[in-house]
Amino acid sequence: MNSDRAAEARRKLDLLRRDYVQRTRTVLTTLAERIAHNRSPDLLPELIAQLHRLAGSGGSFGFDDLSHAARRLEARVEAWSRRTEAIDYEALAQAIAELSALLAPDRGTAVSTSTRAAHKPGPVILWQHAEAAEDAWLVSTLRSFGHWVARVHTAKELAQAIAQEKPEAVLVDLDQRGTDAAARTSLLEELEAVRTRTREADWSLLVASVEDHFALRLQAARLGVASFLRRPFDPMLLVERLEGFRRAEQAEPGRVLLIDDDELLAQHHAAVLETAGFETRVCTEPARALEVLPRFQPELVLIDMYMPECSGPELARVIRQHDTWMALPLVFLSAETDQAMQIAATSEGADDFLTKPIADGHLVASVRARIQRARQLARLMDHDGLTGLFNHRRIKEELGAQVARTSDLDLGLCAAMIDLDRFKQINDRHGHPVGDIVLKALAHLLRKRLREGDAVGRYGGEEFLLLLPGCAAADALRLLDRLRSLFGALRFGSPVGEFSATFSAGVAELGRGETGEMLLERADRALYQAKREGRNRVRLAD
Ligand code: GH3
Ligand code: MG
Ligand code: MG
Repeated sequence: MNSDRAAEARRKLDLLRRDYVQRTRTVLTTLAERIAHNRSPDLLPELIAQLHRLAGSGGSFGFDDLSHAARRLEARVEAWSRRTEAIDYEALAQAIAELSALLAPDRGTAVSTSTRAAHKPGPVILWQHAEAAEDAWLVSTLRSFGHWVARVHTAKELAQAIAQEKPEAVLVDLDQRGTDAAARTSLLEELEAVRTRTREADWSLLVASVEDHFALRLQAARLGVASFLRRPFDPMLLVERLEGFRRAEQAEPGRVLLIDDDELLAQHHAAVLETAGFETRVCTEPARALEVLPRFQPELVLIDMYMPECSGPELARVIRQHDTWMALPLVFLSAETDQAMQIAATSEGADDFLTKPIADGHLVASVRARIQRARQLARLMDHDGLTGLFNHRRIKEELGAQVARTSDLDLGLCAAMIDLDRFKQINDRHGHPVGDIVLKALAHLLRKRLREGDAVGRYGGEEFLLLLPGCAAADALRLLDRLRSLFGALRFGSPVGEFSATFSAGVAELGRGETGEMLLERADRALYQAKREGRNRVRLAD
């Protein structure tokens, strides 16, 4: 029955994907023709908008290559449209044609239940003993989430597989020859040799081990291990780590606001940061900082220590008076090495000091490290520890913000309340830790399938709230139903046996003058109607 459901889900998604391919192709071809014909920059804004959409949507349909290519082309076209330099229309038409080629229907990953993507990224290679027992479940979980798995049993096979398969990651079982020190050392030596031989290849190394102590961690760190999994581990953890690597690879470098009365210097620092990929804004009047902050939403502010209107530390004090900017990293740029001044600034909430003149590389590295750290902290504060989704507080905040935005702009907004079916039974039968895995798997699926701008949070124990701005009720129903069948098709394992899980959902569309609370109440009522009608279904609120 479950394989039927999976097949049905695959078929549906396949149709959707074909539809997407066709529509997008038509749009691209028409645009390319119009551009070649008119040779006018008037069409660029439309092209940019289309590329932007494509960059955002391609990945959702499994066309990751297309997303990246569209993003790159969007940046190029934007640069052209700003500079008014002669536009190479031939090259542009060519680039659009190349994009279309990436839209071959068989290139996209079918759905998360597909066993192997027809294109990059490569497999996850498992190096383990021939009879490793744990992996049936590991392999099926990886596959459920769209990873392709290959297995090797010797260092030689590993080196070959890396050369041929261009893996996204390699997981090495450190216990495969037993846990005594000599066996481990020889394994690690072979691993190091493989690393050296395949230095050009770009893959992440993960290790699994029953033992966990400082010396082993140190050895792992020296080998460049990206993740150390202590056995026994939950396969979802591996899926999450792999996702994390991809996220880090694709993450935007960040937005930096520079506040300095010396415009030239500020522009120079901005240019250095822009070269490294950061988005920057320069503000030469500290008095305007509070206007710029909400509009630009920087992730870090570089502040000059000495400015005529107000000093850097004074400005920091003003910024920190606002709750919204409490956690925003503030870094001072100062020509001073005056310690007393720096201590004073620290007490105003400065996070760091950089001394002018600062080497380009140092500026970039400091800013990057600060932003990464701030992002990690922000994730911890706003996210639920188990699922990594927004926590209750944060998703409620998001609801308020989205309701306000929707009413302002007169866009649609749908909310969906999801609740796992008979989850208590799953816990009772398979144990709480396995229940946790089910929660994580659902969270993962939701995160993966949502568009940019959508928000999802863990509303309660086994309840999730989805916010879908700009989405009409019929589309929200369709989306939820698709998620429902994808989730139902996932297989879980426990010592008691394999099983699957389902959820019920209630969808409500924001009405005129309605508050977030009212919207949630209606979604909740629809959810309970779905439960009453037998569960594993989605209902729309009246
Ligand atoms: P229904 O279909 O009516 O929703 O039935 P249900 O069993 O899912 O609903 P009920 O509200 O009776 O039980 C919810 C269960 O969810 C009980 C609780 O132990 C479990 N739960 C809540 N949070 C967690 C968690 O973080 N991990 C695990 N494993 N279980 C949790
Ligand atoms: Mg429930
Ligand atoms: Mg519940």
